[in-house]
Amino acid sequence: MNCSVKLALALAAMAFAQQLPAQLPDPIARLNHQDVRLAEIAERLLAANRALCRQEMPLTGMVLHSRDQYRADVAGTAFANGPVAVAGVVPGSPAAAAAISPGDGIAAIGEQPTATMTRIGEAPLRDTAFAALAEQGPVVIAVVRNGQERVLSLDAPSGCRALVEIRAADSLDARSDGRVIQVNYGLAQTATDEQLAVVFAHELGHLVLEHRRRLEAAGVEKGFFGEFGRNRRLNRQVEVEADLISVHLLANAGYDPAIAPAFWRSRLGRRAGGGILRSGTYPSARARAELVECEIAEHLAGRIGPSFPQHLMSRRDAPFE
Ligand SMILES: [Zn+2]
Repeated sequence: MNCSVKLALALAAMAFAQQLPAQLPDPIARLNHQDVRLAEIAERLLAANRALCRQEMPLTGMVLHSRDQYRADVAGTAFANGPVAVAGVVPGSPAAAAAISPGDGIAAIGEQPTATMTRIGEAPLRDTAFAALAEQGPVVIAVVRNGQERVLSLDAPSGCRALVEIRAADSLDARSDGRVIQVNYGLAQTATDEQLAVVFAHELGHLVLEHRRRLEAAGVEKGFFGEFGRNRRLNRQVEVEADLISVHLLANAGYDPAIAPAFWRSRLGRRAGGGILRSGTYPSARARAELVECEIAEHLAGRIGPSFPQHLMSRRDAPFE
């Protein structure tokens, strides 16, 4: 079967549902561990694909959280240094070089004290702090530990802008909305680093190709009505586009893009790929493996970056029909 036939089938075929048993332990430390692991992989991909993104931010290697993200009885000592604190630090990152540690409080970001920051809608204070950090050119922050405040400037490289987090949920799911990329705890905890990179690259693909904005402009619905007619066709089209560009994003970050088809053929990939929306929005995991293999063969034969996939990037400014 040639690649265009496979592409047509992927756009048309139904996926099958799979449900998994619930099993979520939820201590903050376990979440934070996966958050740091994801941040390390994410920052590598966000930095390497900077040229493909229209919105950038400094990559500090710091994972932030805020007290209002947790129930009072589980927050423990994580916020002893203030309500916005460091959840974890990526090894080798600018934050690590500045000796920032988990538990440190963030007193100010640039000129803005975190004490005067307010929540945006329903989002936690962490999101406000993240937005302030993302707006920084040179990053200057005030960090508090045991009552001592230090003002630090971080030499942080620029990369694609996305708030990346582990979501406290056990299903094998990941999602993005144009601003935030979330990987469920259940998926992160089960995935190897390379598998997590494949999952993240798919979600980053949605962000790079600005799918949320384009779907909204086209009036496409998600959820129940997303399963029908034009909604369904376009929701599936963006999933295929995200898969196709994922191999380029991986190659740019120094991964062998062959880890993408390997993931979709793996036990985890088959479970995640078949189960994500339990619907016809996604091609089957096998179709996804074949699709990305075709993309590598046709557009990434050397399997190394840098790659600027013009055939996909040009769709970013094309309205959906
Ligand atoms: Zn997707």
